[in-house]
Amino acid sequence: MPLGRIGFSGNFRKPGVNCASCPVSRVRSLAVLLVEPRRRCAIGAVDRLVLWNIDLTLLDVGRVSRDAYADAFRRVTGRPLVSLPQLAGRSDSEIFFDALALNDLAFGSDQIAEDELVARYFWELEAGFSTRQGQLAQSGQLLPGARAAVAATADLPGVVQSVLTGTIRPNAVAKLHAFGLDRFFDLEIGGYGSDAYPRGTLLMMSMTRAAEKYAARFGADSAVYIADTRRDVEAASVGGARCIAVATGRDTAAELAEAGADVVLTDLSDTGQVTGVIDRLTRVPAGR
Ligand SMILES: [Mg+2]
Repeated sequence: MPLGRIGFSGNFRKPGVNCASCPVSRVRSLAVLLVEPRRRCAIGAVDRLVLWNIDLTLLDVGRVSRDAYADAFRRVTGRPLVSLPQLAGRSDSEIFFDALALNDLAFGSDQIAEDELVARYFWELEAGFSTRQGQLAQSGQLLPGARAAVAATADLPGVVQSVLTGTIRPNAVAKLHAFGLDRFFDLEIGGYGSDAYPRGTLLMMSMTRAAEKYAARFGADSAVYIADTRRDVEAASVGGARCIAVATGRDTAAELAEAGADVVLTDLSDTGQVTGVIDRLTRVPAGR
């Protein structure tokens, strides 16, 4: 079915565009150095990128998510969501198209109509989370050790943290905010389901955003993705980052190891173990 194809849309700057040699950039860089010394110093200190998956890695808000999916689906299609597709490791747009197919709905093969349909669905999904903001912390839960692990990782030298998730950005922020986690992340450089790219591509885009913002290079020796599905493990491999898999989702530790995770943890409850593995997988610059 044509609707099964996910369109490439959204804002995306090409990676690898280096303006360091541009005279204007050099002048601006000098100005920043002179006028904003403290900010310049803080940005320059970052040389490790830690990306976290959200659902079933850090927290579980499955009940609210399912209700919001059902509401958004009904509002956009006019039909009830009878069969809910697999959610684990999938983006919001993938879930929507899977739901259309599972519920025997087709909306033609027009790419523009398809994009409009997805845009409407995202809008309804955001509204569905907005009206349920209070329920996120009430009916959901942080997974064992998640807050301590994120807080301790934030204190590691040279580390900036963000998220890589299939959830659309406003709802990802809502989930993190509900549990007081949003302050630990630079959400500008994250990868979200709002951009309909494969997750490995989202990871590369996130590394590019981080590189531009922090004037550093990120790769397999300095970027790590912490997540809970085999799809995430494959995305890290495609995107060029190391992967710490956490067996708190549907996939077992054995399945995650077989998929190629660099390290598999039972959960995040041992904070020292989490930060130790991050230190081992990412380069710690000399003198720190
Ligand atoms: Mg997950």
